Amino acid sequence: MSSRFQLFENNELEGQLTKTDKLDRRNLLKYKSKKKNDRVPLVITYSDGLPNIHSIVKQRLTTLHKSERMREFFPIPPIIAFRRDKNIEDILVHKKHNNMFYKSSNGSEPCGKKCAICNYVMLTTSFFGTDGEEYKIKGNLNCKTQNLIYSLRCKKCDKTVYVGQTGRTLYDRMMVTISNVRNKKCDLITEHFNKNGHTLRDFQMVESRRHSAVKFPD
Ligand SMILES: [Zn+2]
Ligand SMILES: [Zn+2]
Repeated sequence: MSSRFQLFENNELEGQLTKTDKLDRRNLLKYKSKKKNDRVPLVITYSDGLPNIHSIVKQRLTTLHKSERMREFFPIPPIIAFRRDKNIEDILVHKKHNNMFYKSSNGSEPCGKKCAICNYVMLTTSFFGTDGEEYKIKGNLNCKTQNLIYSLRCKKCDKTVYVGQTGRTLYDRMMVTISNVRNKKCDLITEHFNKNGHTLRDFQMVESRRHSAVKFPD
């Protein structure tokens, strides 16, 4: 596992979410003076195929510093910044219509394409942590939303039994989970949905939170 990805244990993730929700809004809105950063930004369009730019810059710095003028401009290595590349939506959909789509309401919902997990996905505007606390869902999330925190509920026990995260879509993640439950693989979710008269019909999923700042592992 790459160290770039911070994997939270279930409890730790809950803890982080609870902590964030308890932060005082007024405090957060106060202006914080930023430390001045003199490093020149090197802005690159992000792609999965990019080599390690940080190490290339580090390696080539001595070459750059052979020129006195360059040494003056770049006394320290430039700061690498990534911009998002155009996705297929940007290419195919006009900005005007794009904005219309983004106005859709907050909440978790099935993708509506009758995919294999649509039947399990709850239509809801909030989700519950394993501690029973309720949290509002921000953004319009469905089976095909990538990089998100999800929660799994049990209808029979009427509670959240698991909160997890995935860098892929909930659909991709749940195909694995459902197959594990069916094949009685040894894990927390499987154990729950195989015990005392439980069936997969008790299984419910909520797309809880999408993250754009951090990329979750698969
Ligand atoms: Zn679906
Ligand atoms: Zn249960």
